[in-house]
Amino acid sequence: MARPKNNRSVFEPPLYKIFAPQGGERIPLEQVRISLDEFEAVRLADYSGLSHEEASESMKISRSTFSRLIEKARKKTADLVINGKQLIIEGGSVHFRNNIIKCLDCKSLYKTKIEECVTECPACHSNNLLDFAGSYGHGNCCTL
Ligand SMILES: [Zn+2]
Ligand SMILES: [Zn+2]
Repeated sequence: MARPKNNRSVFEPPLYKIFAPQGGERIPLEQVRISLDEFEAVRLADYSGLSHEEASESMKISRSTFSRLIEKARKKTADLVINGKQLIIEGGSVHFRNNIIKCLDCKSLYKTKIEECVTECPACHSNNLLDFAGSYGHGNCCTL
């Protein structure tokens, strides 16, 4: 199935969904939510050093949409670092181009193309696998 236009293209799922400050005496911590498209904006512009032009092309969105995304992501990141909040990465209409599969038995991580179907761990042959893209809710846009 084709990728709907509103699904923003993301290279791969985040490795971790939750980050929290250490020494959590102020429980419950306030939470900050960064969507998967905001996460991708940070990866492209701040981690990989792409221009807004290049990054917006990679995500298949307009440059102004990209600028708003990165602005929001930076504000939230500053807030959580300065105020000691918990970060949760979730939400947003995205299509992952690649996936990460983790074997829950031997803990191996595998990077795959999103359309690749891995049903068995290549190292220990376990079927007990965690599909990262699926765990972020990916699938509706390009179900196999
Ligand atoms: Zn998809
Ligand atoms: Zn394994």
